[in-house]
Amino acid sequence: MQIPPRVLTVAGSDSGGGAGIQADLKTMLALGTHGMSVLTAVTAQNSRGVQGAWPLPAEAVRAQFRSVVDDIGVQAVKTGMLASAELVETVAELLTGVGAPVVVDPVGVSKHGDPLLAASALDALRLKLLPLATVATPNLDETAWLTGVHVTSEADLRRAADAVLAFGPRWVLIKGGHLPGDAVDLLTDGTSEHLLRAPRHDNRHTHGTGCTLASAIACGLAKGLSVPDAVGAAKKYVTGAIAAGFPLGEGIGPVDHGW
Ligand code: PLP
Repeated sequence: MQIPPRVLTVAGSDSGGGAGIQADLKTMLALGTHGMSVLTAVTAQNSRGVQGAWPLPAEAVRAQFRSVVDDIGVQAVKTGMLASAELVETVAELLTGVGAPVVVDPVGVSKHGDPLLAASALDALRLKLLPLATVATPNLDETAWLTGVHVTSEADLRRAADAVLAFGPRWVLIKGGHLPGDAVDLLTDGTSEHLLRAPRHDNRHTHGTGCTLASAIACGLAKGLSVPDAVGAAKKYVTGAIAAGFPLGEGIGPVDHGW
């Protein structure tokens, strides 16, 4: 019997099924892994935005994590929406010594501008969670928020990456998708450097892109790929998912995991 690699997402729920835990589990299924979830927050959400968000008690996050890790075990972990400083600290404490690669998607705000992490959690994210990351995957807004470096062209990507690496992740993937032109991301560990380029798809239905990419990286790592190979495969997966994104509701539809 073939037992699939086990991948855990620690993230928030998107009731609309486009981002968060729902995007993570769809990605994990599509990539042939066994997805598991530690829910950090519940959001009332649809294609128009986030109508409400309720963090779970730290005790509930701890209990879910222990249930999964103590029995089933994990071969990679991905973190997404963590909502509050208390939950960032709780998750960092749980991940210390987890013995599996950790992908940290430092989720700050949604595409619609709705806050998914309290401003007071910034220091905990920088000082407690980022040092535990095998790969951190900030987009340009998150990079500016974490480091103060504003990327306005491809030439700024390296300086931004170095500023994130100063917080201690082994690798950083700066997602330059919001720059004009091709979707260019920079992956570096401070020594080697990989520029990942994909053609821009003129599709506004991109809800869940960041969650999907970080989960796909975690899947690759759980399968034993190196970080550059896992990121390269994840970028291909998310590019296909964006190309196939479809309209749902009146706003921004989700990327598609069935392409
Ligand atoms: N909702 C949840 C629970 C999320 O974790 C995220 C992103 O990580 C989002 C919404 C935002 O998704 P997007 O910015 O792709 O719309």
